[in-house]
Amino acid sequence: MQVEAFASIIDADRLRQAAQENPKLRDMMVRYEQFFLAQVQQTAACNAAHSVRARACKWLLRMQSLVGDDLVLTQEFLAQMIGVQRSGVNAIAQELQKLEMISYSRGHIRILDRPRIERLACECDAAINAHYAEIFGS
Ligand SMILES: [Zn+2]
Repeated sequence: MQVEAFASIIDADRLRQAAQENPKLRDMMVRYEQFFLAQVQQTAACNAAHSVRARACKWLLRMQSLVGDDLVLTQEFLAQMIGVQRSGVNAIAQELQKLEMISYSRGHIRILDRPRIERLACECDAAINAHYAEIFGS
């Protein structure tokens, strides 16, 4: 898991059986597989084509959408997620904080100005969200 949250687990055999017995569940699992693969492909392209700052901003927006304004997210973790050294993320975090777009202290990042962060982020999060809506509906 990338951030603290609740989760459920199910035995793989029970899930397989449930999917065989429930066409809606099976359809949902196939759709999720399609979405997940598209997300992986988008992330690979993002890592190859977009700047560290754009990717960091994309990740902050993604995490805010999932968790809210206050992120329990270390720079070390963010660096791992976007595939760069911690020092690179630290410089970006300092820049964004100086511009009053985020505030951060040990292990906590608070989003202060989403619209401005969106302008710095690459389009990949929006592309992933659009693909999600296409596969699952709104
Ligand atoms: Zn990107």
